[in-house]
Parts: sequence; C-alpha cells; structure tokens
Amino acid sequence: MRAAGRRDPASANPPSGPVPGCHFCDRMADPSSVRNRLIYESELFHIRHELEDPGPSYLGALLIQTKRHVSGMAELTDAEGRELGYLIQRTSRALKSCTSAAWTYVYSFTEAYRHVHVFVAARYPDIPKKYVRLAITEWPGAPRGGRAEVEELCRRLRESMAPTASRETPPP
Ligand SMILES: [Zn+2]
Repeated sequence: MRAAGRRDPASANPPSGPVPGCHFCDRMADPSSVRNRLIYESELFHIRHELEDPGPSYLGALLIQTKRHVSGMAELTDAEGRELGYLIQRTSRALKSCTSAAWTYVYSFTEAYRHVHVFVAARYPDIPKKYVRLAITEWPGAPRGGRAEVEELCRRLRESMAPTASRETPPP
C-alpha cells in the first residue's frame, strides 16, 4: 500500500527555516536563556543540560537537538545522522566521566514538537528497579542540584566534550 502523498513541509531538505511555536526553534532563536547550560555547539547541533524550574534538577540530563527544524530521524541529512551518532557517544562518555553514571539512557519521541531532539541521561548504578527506564528522573534519591550545581556540572561536561589533540575528531 502506498502512503498518501502528503508531505510535511518542515521535513523538506535543508535549509529549512524556524517554525513558529516550536519550542526547539524558539531556543535556537534566543539561546541566551541556555547559555550557561550549553555543553556543545556545532553548525548542525546544540546540546544543553536540562533545568527544572522550580528545581532541583536531575544532574546528568542532556538534550541534543538539531539546529534546523527537522521533523524526524528519517529526515536527517547523512551528515546530521553521522554527527548525531557521534554526539550520543561523546555525551555518554562525558556523563560517565563527570558523574557517577554507570551508563546512559538515550531516547527520543518527537511527540510534543516534531523537531529532532534526543535525551541522553545518566543512569546511576543504585537506582531502585521501580524507577528504571522512563521514570529515572522521578527517583527521589537521584543526584539533584539547583542552577549553580547544574552550571558547574555543565562546565565539567564542556571540558570533557572539548576536542583534544587526541584522535577524537568529529565525523566528516
Ligand atoms: Zn523546530
């Protein structure tokens, strides 16, 4: 059965402009509100630490988003797809290095806003079974902090993500 020919204009090939009312496009239009929580930025992607308001916030909850409005994983360019995989690996390593995470959770639903974004969260080793998977941030015993603690963790994550003179180079 062939799919109908309807095509979301937002999924057109780049460049695609910002979409009014899209939370993620709004963030790119005014990134000042997340400046101190910026972990990494490239031509294609932006990574920040989440901040609960009011807090405290779960420490180790990162959000990778495309800079352009792109409606789903299938619509990423090849370059975006390669870089996204690389950034998931790099953020996961940074979280293991800067927190006591045993490993990371990686998930994306794109339900509220059809703009590609991926959560990468620290999975702490001693979390009770009832909070594993999608309830990790609800665990009362999770490491949490206010804005200052989040920004301090961001500083360390930025350092950890920064390219070094080693073999770590972004994909072409
Ligand atoms: Zn958007």
